[in-house]
Amino acid sequence: MDSSAISAPRKRVLSLIQPTSVPTIGNYIGALRNWAAMADDYDCFYGVADLHALTIRPDPPALRRQSTEMFAMLLALGLRRGNNVVFVQSHVPEHCQLNWILTCYTQFGEAARMTQFKDKSASHADNVNLGLFSYPTLMAADILIYQADYVPIGADQKQHLELSRDIAERFNGIYGPTFTAPEPYIGKIGSRVMSLQDPTKKMSKSDPNPKGAISILDSPDQIVKKCKSAVTDSEASVHYAEGKDGVNNLMTIFSACTGQTFERIERDFAGKGYGDFKLALAEAVIEELRPFQEEYRRLMADPASLRQAAAEGAEAAARAARRTTAKAMKKVGLWMAERG
Ligand code: ATP
Ligand code: MG
Repeated sequence: MDSSAISAPRKRVLSLIQPTSVPTIGNYIGALRNWAAMADDYDCFYGVADLHALTIRPDPPALRRQSTEMFAMLLALGLRRGNNVVFVQSHVPEHCQLNWILTCYTQFGEAARMTQFKDKSASHADNVNLGLFSYPTLMAADILIYQADYVPIGADQKQHLELSRDIAERFNGIYGPTFTAPEPYIGKIGSRVMSLQDPTKKMSKSDPNPKGAISILDSPDQIVKKCKSAVTDSEASVHYAEGKDGVNNLMTIFSACTGQTFERIERDFAGKGYGDFKLALAEAVIEELRPFQEEYRRLMADPASLRQAAAEGAEAAARAARRTTAKAMKKVGLWMAERG
């Protein structure tokens, strides 16, 4: 018998994304566009982190709209393939149930050490709520509830993932194997995209300067404008070199969208100015995003099928979430009710 036929169960991947800002072309090139392909090797849970968004008290109608939009974006990115599950966090109430249990297995000192809490409480000084403080425990619940093996994360979430591991290991140490301890997912590393306005800084969806980042929902006009106003240098020569951060970044984006090498780009744009290159870049970005944007618009025009997809996602996610939550509840000694 072929030994691969009795291979180990497929590993699970989890990633949640907050609905409060639209991903940038940096998120797309560095992470999102690689996520769909992961369904070949893993069972992936992708969710809209609407509960996490509450920590900054968003406007209710805006949160509802943005959550729907983010859900549609995840579908339009092609993430619902294979065994993947795409869902909205608040549609699976077990996240909150497990969150409370895990809160009792997280030390105050551990949560207080999280640098993101320190940063966020400084930037939202008028609303330093308990949610902001216990955010990493909810994140641990999000991950552990699906028994995720891997979590694709940016550097700023590393500390939180370590806390999730610590909580899992602590709980397992007390009660026996209950949770999978998650590891960061280091996959194919997409290029790092820098801000169009300050190419020494990473492009970021929370950049207050809207010209610094291209969002994946930007219209062709907006993309052309942002590319045109991207910071370059006074050399007027399209080549990749130390000290040409702006041009290097534009070449990186161009290459990521077209698959062309830097050598090819340099050859094609030899003797041409930045104006031509920026227009070609805008065209390449528009083309790269076109299929995604078309699918997104199609989904947004069909709210009934979006609702249906959300219900299916919630049901599939809840099946996995209930199993883990029941296990944790029993282990800590909660008297389990039998509900019909
Ligand atoms: P925020 O400003 O809210 O932190 P962000 O743009 O940094 O937003 P994250 O939510 O922190 O986005 O990261 C989401 C994913 O996108 C991560 O996997 C991260 O590595 C990747 N990513 C973020 N910014 C870039 C970038 N400029 N280039 C490439 N990948 C990026
Ligand atoms: Mg970040």
